[in-house]
Amino acid sequence: MSVSASSGLVVASRRPSARVGILALKNKSTGRCKFIQFTLDYDLAEEIVKKIERVNRHVRDDTLPDKINDDAICDLCSFNEVCLPDVYHDGEIIFDEELEADINQLMELRSSIKPLQDEYDELNEKLKKKLHGVQKAIVGDCVIMGKMVTKKPFTYNGGEYWDMRIKKIKK
Ligand code: SF4
Repeated sequence: MSVSASSGLVVASRRPSARVGILALKNKSTGRCKFIQFTLDYDLAEEIVKKIERVNRHVRDDTLPDKINDDAICDLCSFNEVCLPDVYHDGEIIFDEELEADINQLMELRSSIKPLQDEYDELNEKLKKKLHGVQKAIVGDCVIMGKMVTKKPFTYNGGEYWDMRIKKIKK
């Protein structure tokens, strides 16, 4: 596979044994080149190509994909207020000062625990990778349980992921 771009060139072999590619970048002003080696992931590339094809089909046919309507995903989406106005705008307006103060405090608490949540997520991901494939194990005074879960077909195009839970053993 060889892709040329105005400022770079990706060179990669299609041989199954070749898992490494080189990104060649040329500085147009100085003419100097920089080579960046990277590991190839054909499965990921295939997934991306399929996604691009889906997007192109929608652009060509002037259609929109089905709405996911999953809080876990839509809450993080930049288009949610446009895409789901009934969820993010419409509703009964309640005038209650105490309720409003409690909600504001909850929002403040949520934003103050965000860095901790990010740290938790990062460590959790690290452990998930380390314990991938482990169905049941005991580490220290915790029990680890893991299983493969099939994603809902409309979520990230289906697929599977490893679900891991850690529970403290009651003494
Ligand atoms: S565009 Fe965003 S808000 Fe709309 S369904 Fe997709 S993820 Fe949800």
